[in-house]
Amino acid sequence: MDPNQSIYPWFSSNSGGGGLTSGNGQNFSIHYTDNFFSGDPSSYNNHGYGRNTYKWLFISSHEVVHIKQNIDWAISLGYYSPPMLVKNAYLGHAAGQYAIAGSHDGARNEILADIGSETFKDFDKFIDKFASNQALIKLLESQHADAFKVAQVDRWWKKYRVKVTKGRGGAIFLGNNPK
Ligand SMILES: [Zn+2]
Repeated sequence: MDPNQSIYPWFSSNSGGGGLTSGNGQNFSIHYTDNFFSGDPSSYNNHGYGRNTYKWLFISSHEVVHIKQNIDWAISLGYYSPPMLVKNAYLGHAAGQYAIAGSHDGARNEILADIGSETFKDFDKFIDKFASNQALIKLLESQHADAFKVAQVDRWWKKYRVKVTKGRGGAIFLGNNPK
């Protein structure tokens, strides 16, 4: 296969790539296009994101919303098992939305999933002001133990939640689809 060609035709690695989340309501996997694993930033037409923590978190905060959608969808059907049946049905459902919307990004689930990425972006900007510039990425890329990083991010997230719920702007994904 051409290494510059994504296996998902609508996500060319050379134009930034993308991710695809699939699941059966219980187990999930997220696939990223090859450019997310390239340590050379100039590769894939300057889309080598292997060392780009921000890019990884931005796309991942989109993809994890699809996990919640997958669970909700499996529950809404009333048949939480057998897993393979749910998986196949979910993927067909996603394809149907793609066809209706006319583009992958236009599908309703994609718009809702983008709220995940927007929330990450807003949270990162909040930490820039609340702590210091690039504090989130610097923390995650530091040599601190994971437990230390998680505890710090939790503290920042609590502060951010307070700010958002006070209505001073910022989209937020709290686990339920906004109506
Ligand atoms: Zn998506």
